[in-house]
Amino acid sequence: MVRALQIGPAQLADRRVAMRALLEQSIAIPSVSGMEAGFVEFLAKFAQRVGLEVDLWQSSEADLGRFPVHYPRHLPLAGRPTAVIRLPGTRGGRSLIFNGHSDVVPTGDVAAWTHHPWGGQSIDDAVFGRGACDTKGPIVSALWSMVHLAESDQRPAGDVLLELVPGEEDCVGLGTLTSVARGWKADGCVVLEPTESLPRCASRGGVRFTITALGRSVHGTVKWLGEDAINSARLLLAAIESLQAEWTTVDSDPLFEAYPFARPLTVDSIRGGDWQGMLADRCVIAGYLELLPADDLKTWQDELAFALRERVGGGVRFVIDFSEQYAGHRLQPDHALCRAAQPDQRGSAWQGFNSGCEAGLRAGLLGTPTLVWGPGSLAQAHAADEFVLFSDVEDVAGQFIQFIERWCNAPTDQTHL
Ligand SMILES: [Zn+2]
Repeated sequence: MVRALQIGPAQLADRRVAMRALLEQSIAIPSVSGMEAGFVEFLAKFAQRVGLEVDLWQSSEADLGRFPVHYPRHLPLAGRPTAVIRLPGTRGGRSLIFNGHSDVVPTGDVAAWTHHPWGGQSIDDAVFGRGACDTKGPIVSALWSMVHLAESDQRPAGDVLLELVPGEEDCVGLGTLTSVARGWKADGCVVLEPTESLPRCASRGGVRFTITALGRSVHGTVKWLGEDAINSARLLLAAIESLQAEWTTVDSDPLFEAYPFARPLTVDSIRGGDWQGMLADRCVIAGYLELLPADDLKTWQDELAFALRERVGGGVRFVIDFSEQYAGHRLQPDHALCRAAQPDQRGSAWQGFNSGCEAGLRAGLLGTPTLVWGPGSLAQAHAADEFVLFSDVEDVAGQFIQFIERWCNAPTDQTHL
């Protein structure tokens, strides 16, 4: 039985002051990967106070061993809880799980910020701070929609869940796996990320790499007698740049055609050289290759190693290692979950999310239809003076309420219709 919920700004307004304070306070609790506990406990307490159910627990690596995905490199899970906040349905409807990562990236140079990264400062409509759009603003949108529905007399038929998972910024997928291992699942999933308030039906997979260029140190004045690892790194960087351009024209995906690169190949750190006056005997280039949903991770990992070797030639010595791996996902734009999100949007208007995120985990492991959705923009994420517009947080909360009504009031056997 589908009942129409008439949700507009007036209905959300009662909660506006409280939700803005919740967002500001959330940002003011630093939750850099590895230190998520304070923020998760804060939201869990808030959820309990407003009458939502909370499952807050601590996972260990041993809980995850039975799954076919493994994360060889990550910060230890000890002291990093996961939480699921639940609005129980009135029975019989499709369930939905929101997924929000509780961690944020470090601030970088604080001097580059105009507004303190842990201040949660509001200026007009903008709320500033690390995590404002990635992804505390989107989490507040989801929580706001749940609080509103909990307080209304029109509860959805299916359960609405919000999982707060640690470590997305450190090791994509690991935190969501702790929740899957606990037994939490749903008929549909929305991963909360800054998507400029538009639902996205696909996301990128990716692999992290470390390339170590090898050299042989000698005094700089007789450098022709040695082997310069920094010069080798320069050749490797040029090869990486040319591969990114070349791979943009191969097997593209219409959902990602709006972006300049089909497969962004990003270097995020270079370290080399120990002492002045001598050639470096090693230079380490680290980064990540992001892929299209249909790309096989292992195939592209091998392709990167092979193509680099081919480009730089046998005279450059290097070794390449791969660490983090995460799957992308792709949902057909005519899927019921897409139609519940955007009933009026035509298939051609749908786009993928131009980043890796937690979406591949439930989609790949459990076949859960998944969207990525939230206020804010990737242009502000991971940047100094990160912000989210509070009006966007509110707007998306309203969109979520209507989406929940369409999705969770339909019977569970209509998951794929
Ligand atoms: Zn994020």
